Amino acid sequence: MSELPSAVDVVVVGGGNAAFCAALSAAEHGVSVLVLERAPEDESGGNSRFTAGAFRCVYDGVDDLQALMPDLTEQEISVTDFGTYTEEKFFDDMGRVTEYRTDPDLCELLVTRSRDTMRWMRGKGVRFAPIYGRQAYKIDGRFKFWGGLTVEAWGGGPGLVDALTASARKNGIQVVYEARATALIADDDGVKGVRVRHQGKTREIAAKAVVLASGGFQSNTEMRTRYLGPNWELAKIRGTRFNTGDGIKMALDIGAMPTGNWSGSHAVGWDRNAPEFGDLAVGDNFQKHSYPWGIMINADGERFVDEGADFRNYTYAKYGRVILMQPGQFAWQVFDAKIIPMLRDEYRIKRVTKVRADTLEELVQKLEDVNADKALATIMDYNAAVMTDVPFDPNVKDGRGTKGLAIPKTNWANTVDTPPFEAYAVTCGITFTFGGLKVDTSAQVMDTDGQVIPGLCAAGELVGGIFYFNYPGGTGLMSGAVFGRIAGSSAGAQAAAKK
Ligand SMILES: Cc1cc2nc3c(=O)[nH]c(=O)nc-3n(C[C@H](O)[C@H](O)[C@H](O)COP(=O)(O)OP(=O)(O)OC[C@H]3O[C@@H](n4cnc5c(N)ncnc54)[C@H](O)[C@@H]3O)c2cc1C
Repeated sequence: MSELPSAVDVVVVGGGNAAFCAALSAAEHGVSVLVLERAPEDESGGNSRFTAGAFRCVYDGVDDLQALMPDLTEQEISVTDFGTYTEEKFFDDMGRVTEYRTDPDLCELLVTRSRDTMRWMRGKGVRFAPIYGRQAYKIDGRFKFWGGLTVEAWGGGPGLVDALTASARKNGIQVVYEARATALIADDDGVKGVRVRHQGKTREIAAKAVVLASGGFQSNTEMRTRYLGPNWELAKIRGTRFNTGDGIKMALDIGAMPTGNWSGSHAVGWDRNAPEFGDLAVGDNFQKHSYPWGIMINADGERFVDEGADFRNYTYAKYGRVILMQPGQFAWQVFDAKIIPMLRDEYRIKRVTKVRADTLEELVQKLEDVNADKALATIMDYNAAVMTDVPFDPNVKDGRGTKGLAIPKTNWANTVDTPPFEAYAVTCGITFTFGGLKVDTSAQVMDTDGQVIPGLCAAGELVGGIFYFNYPGGTGLMSGAVFGRIAGSSAGAQAAAKK
């Protein structure tokens, strides 16, 4: 087991994507870097390890994608419409989903540095692949990517964390597991190190600069309920149990400025019987993200949201909250035989809460804790309202909606009338919290007087001000990488200057 040094140039707190990007970037300044990961090695990597590894990044065409994925074959290119994801589109998406609250300076960095940061990560040994299947459907022999999400890390989240860890080791960065930072050591001149609990002992490590990349506070029931509000203690945690807000608290304790959407979070529809925290053997497969093709029914037997308001990439992160607010904090997603073959892979795992029936009457009886008569009436009313004259096309917002319902469905409205029928029970699974620390454009943490705290940088989930209310899929990893790289560079430069 790796021993803790008593002094190092840069300490990085956390062991996920943001932390490793910060560590690799700091090391480019020729300084010594120590990564402190609270989790044991087999649970290390934070939420980043739980992901599918999807990155939202700018590309202006296939050339940009080939630069990231040189293994892309001519055959793949010939049968795929990759489209583009321009800076303008990324800005639009961030503005729209955050209701124009996103910090314009941080958003600009996120968007304009995304392409270059992906290339930098590739240079550090991370491999990428196109997200066939989840983000592109094959129609008439051609794939078409939609929703601005085209690239994933090779091997998903585990592959990403393993590649970053290997790269860190290759670059002489020391990684210590089961090392929990508990406080920042600071005086009037700024941050001078961290206090750490490791193998049952509390130690101090002197450092010229510290990067906090230890995630949000979603895994802390008390903070979650205090800041997000009633019922949030009842949500399940999709990912790591280790993101309990330590980094945020440590920084606030020395006068850092809180900012952003402290009552907001990324939260999705997640298997009703999933465990309290994420399970690495299942990864993100407790999520149930094919709801845009079906309908969702609550305990009262009613629909409660426009399942087809937009591509799942732009609605899934806010619908967890909507499900949490339903009676009993659950919903059933209902599909018929027309859609069942299209359901995402995550619907076919063993640990799934699912019922199946050959008639709608039988199906509604099987929906546990639901008003069956009302549910049947809801499905019938919905079926009668579907604009069946508009063709269904999952690759575009097809405008096949409903007419005359109090809660409309805007796109992909398919009748639920062809047996067999299936239904899946979901509750709210929280991914990460949106409120956090205020940073400037060099990822340095600001204090409540609006001044930079010397020697303290931050990146990843614990940075506030980027996401409000909602989130475009694949942006968490991109944000962690962009701001991790910037934070590491700032910390590395500060440490190098003090040498
Ligand atoms: C199931 C799931 C699927 C997801 N899918 C995607 C996706 O496909 N694409 C995407 O962009 N985003 C996805 N996300 C969101 C994404 O995981 C996060 O936005 C991103 O990984 C955050 O990176 P981070 O480095 O800030 O935090 P993390 O990866 O969570 O890392 C935080 C680290 O800090 C450590 N830590 C905590 N406290 C301390 C302490 N006191 N001392 C030392 N270490 C500490 C933790 O152990 C952990 O290693 C998903 C999340 C989940 C849960």
